[in-house]
Amino acid sequence: MSFLKANIDQLKKDGVYRKLPINEGPCDAEITLNGKRVINLSSNNYLGFANHPRLKKAAKEAIDKYGVGAGAVRTIVGNMDIHEQLDVVIADFKHEEAALVFQSGYNVNAGVIQAITTDKDLIISDALNHASIIDGVRLSKASRAVFKHSDMKDLERILIEKRDQYEQVLIITDGVFSMDGDIANLPEIVRLAKQYKCLTYVDDAHGSGVLGDRGRGTVDHFKLHGQVDFIVGTLSKAIGVVGGYVCGSAEMRDWLLHRGRPLLFSTAMMPAAAAAIIEAFNMLETSDEYTEKLWSNAKYFKEKLERLGFDIGHSQTPITPIIIGNEALTMAFSESLLYNGVYVSGIIFPTVPMGTGRIRCMVSALHTKKQLDKAIDIMEKTAKKLRVL
Ligand code: PMP
Repeated sequence: MSFLKANIDQLKKDGVYRKLPINEGPCDAEITLNGKRVINLSSNNYLGFANHPRLKKAAKEAIDKYGVGAGAVRTIVGNMDIHEQLDVVIADFKHEEAALVFQSGYNVNAGVIQAITTDKDLIISDALNHASIIDGVRLSKASRAVFKHSDMKDLERILIEKRDQYEQVLIITDGVFSMDGDIANLPEIVRLAKQYKCLTYVDDAHGSGVLGDRGRGTVDHFKLHGQVDFIVGTLSKAIGVVGGYVCGSAEMRDWLLHRGRPLLFSTAMMPAAAAAIIEAFNMLETSDEYTEKLWSNAKYFKEKLERLGFDIGHSQTPITPIIIGNEALTMAFSESLLYNGVYVSGIIFPTVPMGTGRIRCMVSALHTKKQLDKAIDIMEKTAKKLRVL
């Protein structure tokens, strides 16, 4: 495969070839990565649920009851009562009429966008929307337009120019932008959608479990219940397990059970995962201990980094990028941090635009202040050495 080898050689030449680190245990605040104990500032395990005893117990009990596999896609015989129960738990938690669980957040975007649009429609997407939205839009027959990131004037410009040419227009945005940590201007998007008679679609992968009352998400944060047509989320980040969901009307759920291709053609979520997720939602519903600890850690960490002079962008959430710019320097900083005992992944093109390389720090409810202080100290020393600071 010489063409692939040439591609890989080019990555190596550019200093952006990566060897996947191997985590030898659970996803905790400290992990054993490539045999070395390091502070983990890279996971999306916001609330520490990925290795939580209550979720593990629920999963183990579900394995005894259901076995390890669903045995088929949901639309054949893989639709177990625990999947149905999970749909209801999520709809209730999000204060929406209905919800439908998929195997991953990626699958939701890959399946839902194409199922709710036709070739007579237009999709308008924020320029910084997640890759799974971009891929989902590509699978749709609808026409596409992209508005400048969170630029409501640009969104309205497209609406004025194009709205009348299409049957339906779907505006899609991330709730929280995954690489910068800023929150979408949802009130204005909803207002424009009403004015121009459009549908709205919010991917709240990084808002759910983080923003709003008990982590109900970005829609709750802005008190916009009932005003967003499709609310998408993942069960792999704050919820700590795996899977994705879409919330909306009962008709939406019914339609997706007939045309949501990942549900029709990919086996249902492991039942033990569903059981663990139900337990996670029970915990969120009954206590704000986890979300409060997450926010307290995030504020502490960000304030310290800013005081040291790091460029942490304009994040409004626990996602904390440190903008470096150059791709090779970004990867060198990340590698050097790992060598010194902190794992923060480097994020470069194509995940973010060329020249905006960053390391992305993810604090969680699990981190102690002592671990955060130690990480910050290592980051300061390493940054000075590499002239990042
Ligand atoms: N949407 C956004 C905004 C995300 O950040 C992610 C995860 N990287 C996904 C969707 C995909 O979620 P999952 O990992 O459950 O496939």
